[in-house]
Amino acid sequence: MSRKVLIVEDEQKLAQLLLDYLQQSGFETLAVADGAHVVASVRQHVPDLILLDIMLPNRDGLEICREIRTFSSVPIIMVTARIEEIDRLIGLELGADDYICKPFSPREVVARVKAVLRRSDKDAPLPMIRLKLDEARYRATLDSRELDLTAVEFKMLHFLATNPGRIYSRQQLMDRIYPDERIVSDRTIDSHIKKLRRKIADISAEKELIHSVYGVGYKFEEL
Ligand code: CA
Repeated sequence: MSRKVLIVEDEQKLAQLLLDYLQQSGFETLAVADGAHVVASVRQHVPDLILLDIMLPNRDGLEICREIRTFSSVPIIMVTARIEEIDRLIGLELGADDYICKPFSPREVVARVKAVLRRSDKDAPLPMIRLKLDEARYRATLDSRELDLTAVEFKMLHFLATNPGRIYSRQQLMDRIYPDERIVSDRTIDSHIKKLRRKIADISAEKELIHSVYGVGYKFEEL
């Protein structure tokens, strides 16, 4: 099945160039030039990835990115005309997955698109758009709000969330979280889980994500 890339670009020639290259690389494409129409298009067409120019008529890419992140974890590559802006953009923590600076070669863009999709496919078992886990930085956000987790809590959440619905015993969790075979008691796992659940509940009280299975262990499920 071919993946759908939404190109958000108001320079028509550039948009066409990207369309051509991405299509040649086997992607399905669609393009939007007006900032005001992007969110509606994302909702309607549900792309697999978005190339999002920042300077757009009617609405800028930063604002658009923020709004998309309130309802979707679709990979977003931000496109900027100023290389010195990239640091600032990263600092804004917009939830973008990568940044490309103009002028770029279309080939580079295709390579980046593939790389970002590969990366997001690895995370694909994550069932929810509400929870985002950044393994490189040990950061977790739920409903776009940061969960302030310890490293152990993050590992536990990541492990459970990448295998949704599967039940893990305390022993299995211990082996996973403490691979150096430190002696850890069942109660330690329970206490980490308890803290993790409390932090999740602080953001999302109505939905439990980590469920205890009586006498067996725990599982992750969005119910
Ligand atoms: Ca532009």
